[in-house]
Amino acid sequence: MPELPEVETTRRGLEPHLQGRRIHGVILRRPDLRWPIPPEVERELPGQRIAAIRRRAKYLLLDTDAGSALLHLGMSGSLRVLPGDTPVRTHDHVDISLEDGRLLRFNDPRRFGCLLWQPSGETHELLRDLGPEPLDDAFDGDYLFARSRGRSAPVKAFLMDQRIVVGVGNIYAAESLFMAGIGPLREAGKVSRERYQRLAMAVKDILGHAITRGGTTLRDFISPDGAPGYFEQELSVYGREGEACVRCGRVLRHASIGQRATVWCGHCQR
Ligand SMILES: [Zn+2]
Repeated sequence: MPELPEVETTRRGLEPHLQGRRIHGVILRRPDLRWPIPPEVERELPGQRIAAIRRRAKYLLLDTDAGSALLHLGMSGSLRVLPGDTPVRTHDHVDISLEDGRLLRFNDPRRFGCLLWQPSGETHELLRDLGPEPLDDAFDGDYLFARSRGRSAPVKAFLMDQRIVVGVGNIYAAESLFMAGIGPLREAGKVSRERYQRLAMAVKDILGHAITRGGTTLRDFISPDGAPGYFEQELSVYGREGEACVRCGRVLRHASIGQRATVWCGHCQR
């Protein structure tokens, strides 16, 4: 599944091809993805200039004066900028053609992605209750400490709650907790301010590193220019249950938290 670093990598890859370009037309090869594609996408986008391509959490927004196309890659979606005469393959659901003859093509075999519409000056309901971006200054140890008081949920579930902070998926939560030395099952409300400061730093370090490298990978992903967009990342705990801790050599433990597999070192993480 594309995680925040892959979505940010996609955004950065698309930006030079899309920003400032005028949209010629929209071709929808099916009426829905995860949800129905609203009529404004076909009606409003043609003729509009793309002022910016932004990311919020794992959503991408194509901003125009009329409003923004809101895209999510879901489990298996990819976006590429292609020559206008590129043959259509299976699962190529949407083309947004540009006046320069190229097109932005959305392919999504599993159709968990979406294409929605956010009118100018409004915030789509999917974006309304989201927490801060993990790489923004508003996200830090003091913030996590304040938001966690009185919460009995495991700290890993707390960290993966999009209302607390966006874009920290299962891999990055597990790796950040390992880096910060915090046991994933510990109650969020009982983690100290100092340890939350380490955790916020770890989240920023790990996500920042993944973005620099073009995103981690567990799955095939095609970046905007057609090259693989995910890179293998050195994972310390995620997916390593039963193996030796890279720090102390003890066998890594595993459990399920909120139906997500969790791996940690019982010695290095308290
Ligand atoms: Zn260890």
